[in-house]
Amino acid sequence: MANIEVTFLDRGRVQADRNFVVDGTSVATASNREPEHTYETYVVWNLLVETPETTILWDTGSHPDAGGGYWPQPLYEAFAHVDAAEHTLEGDLADAGYALSDIDAVVMSHLHLDHAGGLSEFDGTDVPIYVHREELPYAYYSANTDEGSIAYLASDFDRDLNWQIVHGDSYHLTDGVELLHLPGHTPGLMGALIERPDDPLLVVGDEAYVQANYEGQSMATSLLWNSARWRESLARCRDIQRETGAEILLGHDLDVFESVQ
Ligand SMILES: [Zn+2]
Repeated sequence: MANIEVTFLDRGRVQADRNFVVDGTSVATASNREPEHTYETYVVWNLLVETPETTILWDTGSHPDAGGGYWPQPLYEAFAHVDAAEHTLEGDLADAGYALSDIDAVVMSHLHLDHAGGLSEFDGTDVPIYVHREELPYAYYSANTDEGSIAYLASDFDRDLNWQIVHGDSYHLTDGVELLHLPGHTPGLMGALIERPDDPLLVVGDEAYVQANYEGQSMATSLLWNSARWRESLARCRDIQRETGAEILLGHDLDVFESVQ
C-alpha cells in the first residue's frame, strides 16, 4: 500500500445562518411563529496529500479580499469568510512547512469562490490543475452570465492555468488517491478516497456541508445544483464508507474537521 500522508490546512472561518446550510433548520409554525435562528461558524480547509511520487494540494481556499469587496456583497452577507485576510494560501502553506513551489499538482473539488480563491497563485505555471469535465463549463457559464450560480468568480479561474480534465465517475489520480465524481452541490463536484495506511480517508467535501447533511438532512437550496443527483452522490459516499471503514471529511463542518486530524 502506498505510503500517503495527509496534512490538514485550516484556511479560516465562515459564518452563516444554519438555514443556508441545512434545509428548514428554523421555520415558523402555528405554535412557534418566531423560531430562533442559529448563526454558526464553519471551517474552510485545504489538504496537502503527500505520496512518495508527488505532493498534491486539495483546493485553494478563499481569496484574501473576500470580505473587502472581492466576493459579491449579497453572497458575503449570507456566507461571511470573516478572517480570509489572515489566511493567504502562501502563509497557511508556510505555517505547515510548505512553499507554493512544493506543490506538484492541484485538485479542485469544484470552482466555488471558497475553494478557487487561491488559483491565481498558479497562473502562468505548468502545475496541473485537476477539475471535473462537468465543472469547468458550468463555472464559466455561471461567472459570465446571470444564469447558474453566483458562487463562481471568473477572476478566480479564468486564468492561464494548466487544466487537466477529469472524466467519468472515478479517476485514478495516483497510487492510493481515487477521485470520485459527486454531482449535486455542483455539476462537477469531486471527492476522493485517500488510502492512508490502515486509516483510509473519504473526502466527502461539499457533498455534505455539515454532519447533518451527511446523515441525510437536505442541504439548503442555495447549496444545491440538483437535489436528486445530490441524494445519489450521498448514497455513493455512504456505501464507500461502509465498505472501507474510512474516516470522513465533510465540506465545512468545524467539529468534523477538528476530530479528523
Ligand atoms: Zn465550499
